[in-house]
Amino acid sequence: MTIGKIIDGKAFAETLRGKVGDGVIAFTAKTGRKPGLAVVLVGEDPASSVYVRNKGKMTLAAGMESMEFKLPASIGEEELLDLVEELNADDRVDGILVQLPLPAHINEASVIGTIDPAKDVDGFHVVNSGLLATGQDAMVPCTPLGCLMLLKDELGDLSGLEAVVVGRSNIVGKPMAQLLLAENCTVTIAHSRTRDLASVVHRADIVVAAVGRAEMVKGEWIKPGATVIDVGINRVTDTEDGKSRIVGDVATAEALAHVRAITPVPGGVGPMTIAVLLRNTLVAAHARAGLAKPEGL
Ligand code: NDP
Repeated sequence: MTIGKIIDGKAFAETLRGKVGDGVIAFTAKTGRKPGLAVVLVGEDPASSVYVRNKGKMTLAAGMESMEFKLPASIGEEELLDLVEELNADDRVDGILVQLPLPAHINEASVIGTIDPAKDVDGFHVVNSGLLATGQDAMVPCTPLGCLMLLKDELGDLSGLEAVVVGRSNIVGKPMAQLLLAENCTVTIAHSRTRDLASVVHRADIVVAAVGRAEMVKGEWIKPGATVIDVGINRVTDTEDGKSRIVGDVATAEALAHVRAITPVPGGVGPMTIAVLLRNTLVAAHARAGLAKPEGL
């Protein structure tokens, strides 16, 4: 039995962060200032706090300016929108990221819609999703762009391949499908109402699973030789020892007998997200300074 390759997202992300670091040095030499990323955290959700802390650390490690704004969960929407406006107007800020989810009394769409699209390094603003959907230069959401980088690194030209994206969120599934379409894949988007998901997945040369259900995609669903990108992050508790661990949306151990290559969870897509966030910030800084997009990114 042949065993597929495990794609090392951690190593790829490290290389990408290194390239971003070199780009930051060059940008700073040209402009006399560092690219800046502002991250806004509302409330004290433990997972969000960890993400924000990691983003801050990695931003500094890449040689950029990191600005963190921690606001109480009780903050009003107006006050949050005022902060976003201030960051829009601040020349030191190239990228603005408002950590989601926001408390229920705040309208996420209004907050995202207030971010200057040129500083929208998460790529969630409708201007950016519209640009992406119409095949124009856009700020692309970090996770799907990271998935695409891993796919291109593994497969080279994706043209003509059958791609199935499981999940249709605005953050992962939909932009992932747009990116694959732009690479000339034949794209199917599956979701919770899809009939016979197993046979839909089975026709794919590329499977991207972004569902949020532990090991839902079974090994036998995968077409032999397909490449699988597992975006899911699911915490499960072992019945035997009661310990919890993180698994993806794909039953990786089973899938390994079928795939050409697969991303592990953890260590696959996860590390790519922050690396692409830094990349997007550097790209935004170049655009704002009237400089050409940095090469190799
Ligand atoms: P959402 O909950 O927003 O979307 C989940 C999607 O999965 C929906 O489109 C839903 O369909 C679909 N779905 C749910 N159940 C099924 C089913 N039984 N069969 C087929 N499709 C189904 O999640 P996100 O897109 O935000 O995230 C997906 C996963 O990726 C999560 O585990 C999340 O933690 C992870 N993630 C990881 C990141 C990383 O950095 N590695 C970044 C972002 C997310 P419908 O629309 O019909 O409800």
